[in-house]
Amino acid sequence: MSNSSGVGANVLAVANGVVVKKFWTNCGGNQVYVHHNINGKKYTSAYLHLSQILVSEGQFVSKDTLIGKMGGQKGTGDTCTTGAHLHLSIAYGLRYKDYWTYNDYKARLINPRQVINFPSNYYSAWSNRVTRY
Ligand SMILES: [Zn+2]
Repeated sequence: MSNSSGVGANVLAVANGVVVKKFWTNCGGNQVYVHHNINGKKYTSAYLHLSQILVSEGQFVSKDTLIGKMGGQKGTGDTCTTGAHLHLSIAYGLRYKDYWTYNDYKARLINPRQVINFPSNYYSAWSNRVTRY
């Protein structure tokens, strides 16, 4: 169940893939990275600020597999954020295989709308921050 803020909402994999890493950092909180191979192209998706992680490293996931639960408010998995949100990103290539660092990941970010269809009427708003990194 989720409350009205979105904390606790289901966070789903964007496509079939394999969970490659899950870990915690101060500002990203609980986070999960998933490798995808879509029509022969490799991508990595990331889900940050989770209040709960519900998958394991090495686990195969399908599109819409439950990855975890949304956090993003203080006390829901990290210490930097102040409002509930899913921090979703998608990048070319396989982080933790073909490249490693967050800077390398950031350099490969794409607009997720290029490769996935966003739910039309889910939580309140989508904020495109691709251009602000
Ligand atoms: Zn965020």
